[in-house]
Amino acid sequence: MIVECTADADPRSVQRLVDHLRSRGKLVHWVHGPQPVLVCPDERDLDPRELQAWPGVQRVIPIRHAFQLASRDYRPEGTKIRVGDIRIGDGEPVLIAGPCAIESRTQLLETAHAVREAGAHMFRAGAFKPRTSPYSFQGLGFEGLTLLAEVRAETGLPVVTEVMAPEEVPLVAEVADILQIGTRNMQNFSLLRAVARQPKPVLLKRGMSATIEEWLLAAEYVMAYGNFSVILCERGIRTFERMTRNTLDINAVPVAKRLSHLPVLADPSHGTGEAAYVIPVARAAIAAGADGLLVEVHVRPEEAWSDGRQSLTPEAFARMVREVRAVSRALRMIQ
Ligand code: PEP
Ligand code: MN
Repeated sequence: MIVECTADADPRSVQRLVDHLRSRGKLVHWVHGPQPVLVCPDERDLDPRELQAWPGVQRVIPIRHAFQLASRDYRPEGTKIRVGDIRIGDGEPVLIAGPCAIESRTQLLETAHAVREAGAHMFRAGAFKPRTSPYSFQGLGFEGLTLLAEVRAETGLPVVTEVMAPEEVPLVAEVADILQIGTRNMQNFSLLRAVARQPKPVLLKRGMSATIEEWLLAAEYVMAYGNFSVILCERGIRTFERMTRNTLDINAVPVAKRLSHLPVLADPSHGTGEAAYVIPVARAAIAAGADGLLVEVHVRPEEAWSDGRQSLTPEAFARMVREVRAVSRALRMIQ
């Protein structure tokens, strides 16, 4: 159950309510956001009407899931996340494109101009790369962030970049418009708490072996520690299939949209691992209800330092944009 208090609620009355619930043996989590929100996951024997009458209480919302703040019961109308003039979750698919990794200033600038030209709303590129092998390119780190800041200033595109360590959150957040949590860190709870303590939106990729419930509970961590701007991203899961790198779980799109109010993106690049499959799967994700796409684009995919095989050329990306827009228009006609 969620007990939402008014922004001007007297903290002493909120504390009295917390004490009252705790005296009844309930676990209460107090979220210190723009307004006080109490989460009480065990709602047995609690009467919403009694809590509603408590001073400072604005709304009492019973929730049917383990995840509470991330649940659609909390915000049936859905959440829109604003980044500059862009709104994620507002009907129009948001397209985030760029290389897997920041390699050089020229590679970054060339790609950013190309994807902007083709219709991308935001730019993606990793400075900190979580690589399976310690001998693979690990990313340019802070030097990469400086280049990303330059690209952002020159192209005006908001930027999405991954953060891998709690202590690096403040510096990454200085440059990034959205902080990405990669699949390998979806359940890195100290990292989730660290991104929750800064105000920029968080793009939370689904763990490659995580259930949808575990993914939504990871989003719940970020929200429970104070950051409600979470964007979910389905990026493919591990299955027995070997013809593709991962299996983009298309089911996850309508399931997450139904269970949660948070916007849902899809990443057909990591979801397939193969440039030839990226466009059809991107169309499918939009048709399934995704709020946008995260796509890898490289000016010369064959020379990419990471994930070249799944990277689109700028020309292929431009085609993807046209096709995805057509799917989105068709959806609006039938809905
Ligand atoms: C990426 O976006 O380049 C990335 C590393 O993604 P994931 O965490 O989904 O593998
Ligand atoms: Mn990648």
